[in-house]
Amino acid sequence: TAGEVAQDLKEVVYCVGGFVRDLFLKVPNFDMDLVVEGDGQKLATELAERLGGKVRVHDRFRTAVVTLPDGTKIDVATARTEYYEYPAALPKVEKSSLKEDMYRRDFTINTLAICLNPGHFGDLIDYFGGRKDLMNGSIRILYNFSFVEDPTRILRAIRFEQRYRFTIEADTLRFARDAIERRMLGRLSYKRILAELILILNEKDPVPALERIRGTGVWKYLLPEIDVDDVSWKTIKRVPVVMGWWEEQYYSRKIKPWLIYIVVFFAQLSFEQVEAEMQRYPFDRYAKGCIMDSLGIPALAEDISRRSYLSPSDLDKMIASVTNENLIYLLLCIKDEEAWDRVARYLDLKDKIELEVNGYDLLELGLKPGPIFKEILDELYYLKLDEKIHNYE
Ligand code: ATP
Repeated sequence: TAGEVAQDLKEVVYCVGGFVRDLFLKVPNFDMDLVVEGDGQKLATELAERLGGKVRVHDRFRTAVVTLPDGTKIDVATARTEYYEYPAALPKVEKSSLKEDMYRRDFTINTLAICLNPGHFGDLIDYFGGRKDLMNGSIRILYNFSFVEDPTRILRAIRFEQRYRFTIEADTLRFARDAIERRMLGRLSYKRILAELILILNEKDPVPALERIRGTGVWKYLLPEIDVDDVSWKTIKRVPVVMGWWEEQYYSRKIKPWLIYIVVFFAQLSFEQVEAEMQRYPFDRYAKGCIMDSLGIPALAEDISRRSYLSPSDLDKMIASVTNENLIYLLLCIKDEEAWDRVARYLDLKDKIELEVNGYDLLELGLKPGPIFKEILDELYYLKLDEKIHNYE
């Protein structure tokens, strides 16, 4: 449809970037990026109308996001049409704007474009040898000063390299090492560092990337306050394993994977140091609360492990308000198998049961509203958690 819209508007539209890269790698990718040679915002508006979606435009960047009824998001960008003044009175030349757009990207593997216009649908445009690098598994920058221009690309290179088990091409690696030595990463704001760190930690298994970061001397720019040798790498390596189990078991309990790693990293810090980190990095409110609460988790784990018996309702009183990320951290801290099983069983029950009685039922019984209501409902809930009462037939 995007191609048809473009044709009607006398524009050319391409599908670009990560979507095309992953198409070649046969990796699922649901983020579609379009580049329009023409007016991207107009195309986005028309596209949303035809597909019954919504559009949000960002005038500053000449971009737009189309959200389809099924939740799919399509980013639409406008390729700049730039005119270059050539010296000596040569005519102004309009460069291919798609090529310009691609040239500003990070690595060759992200510069592939597929035309969507009818008549040219499916044509591959590969200005910088991206296809070959994709086939060879090479991460290659487009120009020598790429890492100096944007040092976050060093982190992106490591992320893609480890995600696809690719190799950073030799010259690119040399330029990256050079930029690291020249402390280019030190120029980044905490905001940008955190954004890239989150992307790395949200990878399916970020451990290899973290090891590469450690090995290349990049760590001190990411989390300088964390002593990398003091991190419990054994625990870090268990995070993806426990998370995989959690997602299978409690798929309805959504988690922010990156936050679990942060909590484990911060475990070596004192309360004051964690507070200082909160000032430095722009964590959102949820993350801040989670990180502060995580300081109490090791003691809670010890308490739970020490007790010879805890019923599900006892556990509810201890951990009902703990966030999902901290529950995973709690499980990582619990070494005792029985204690682990008890927590897992409690979570299982908690997800399954539902109280069929509510305040209105108590009113109907002629009870007077007040704190007693909460007490009765809590007690019923606990009885149910402990499987002392069952559903009414
Ligand atoms: P992912 O699968 O991780 O989402 P992606 O390639 O789609 O990968 P995005 O971060 O969504 O990554 O970026 C979209 C495109 O924008 C990329 O394909 C890349 O070419 C370009 N891009 C992103 N960040 C940079 C950067 N710092 N410098 C240059 N180009 C970038």
